[in-house]
Amino acid sequence: MSDTASSSGTLYIVATPIGNLGDMTSRAIETLKAVDLIAAEDTRHSARLLQHFGIQTRMTSYHDFSDDARVELLLHNLLDGQSVALISDAGTPLISDPGYRLVNRARERGLRVVPIPGVCAMTTALSAAGIPSDRFAFEGFPPAKHTSRLKLFQALVQETRTLVFYESPHRILECVDDMAAGFGFDRTAVIARELTKTFETIHCDTLGSLQHWLRADENQQRGEFVVLIKGAATEQDEEIPADAKRILQVLMEELSVKQAVSLASRLSGVKKNQLYALALASAAKPDDTVAQ
Ligand code: SAM
Repeated sequence: MSDTASSSGTLYIVATPIGNLGDMTSRAIETLKAVDLIAAEDTRHSARLLQHFGIQTRMTSYHDFSDDARVELLLHNLLDGQSVALISDAGTPLISDPGYRLVNRARERGLRVVPIPGVCAMTTALSAAGIPSDRFAFEGFPPAKHTSRLKLFQALVQETRTLVFYESPHRILECVDDMAAGFGFDRTAVIARELTKTFETIHCDTLGSLQHWLRADENQQRGEFVVLIKGAATEQDEEIPADAKRILQVLMEELSVKQAVSLASRLSGVKKNQLYALALASAAKPDDTVAQ
């Protein structure tokens, strides 16, 4: 694959499926066929994928433990005008997968780095979990040791964004136990297991109930997991009592929003910012009523 813009080759970062081979994009196939070299996390594992799609490109290994010499060799290939594609065992490279050092050094040397997007377990889980996805934080794999894991969850207890974790089958039970202890048994969470595969399961419940659910069926402990934790409730989420809404509505008919909110807050004891958000939302409604 020649690069017309410069004599250096391009580094392609190519996403591959996380289970269902039907999720391989045509651009990924074309790119892997066209490049001079594929750098793969595990060449034996990726050989099956390449064979399935009739890709005959030469492969070399690249993983997190690759030494500087391996990175330099790949950079040398690129500087020499060869194009290289980086793939991981599954999903998007660099997302809890190797590639950061290579991409970082390639960009430092002014080489072109082109993403070929596709599947990622995190976004796949988020898209179907049914908990807020407008703001989220990806935490990757939690620590393997109980004490550090619990400490991390306790440190994140006030986080209002949805939290996304990866977990392996041999740690899923103890991880969910620590999540329940750290975030609270009543916190809503989603376990997304074996996404895009035959036994795909996406189950939403409180962490306390998820602990029981996992233990009740050993099959639910098998496979690959994404665990999503609903963010901590914000003040705006707290339910405003119906009488406070009514007071605000009446006052808004006679006073400015600012005065109505201030007075309604004094009368009802509900925080001003909560009432203000409600007032603004209702002002935007055509019939000018406060949402019940
Ligand atoms: N780069 C990958 C991506 O884009 O999602 C993630 C690689 S990371 C080493 C592997 C972890 O991703 C698994 O342990 C699991 O937590 C999650 N994962 C990968 N495939 C999955 C699947 N089909 N269903 C659920 N989780 C999956």
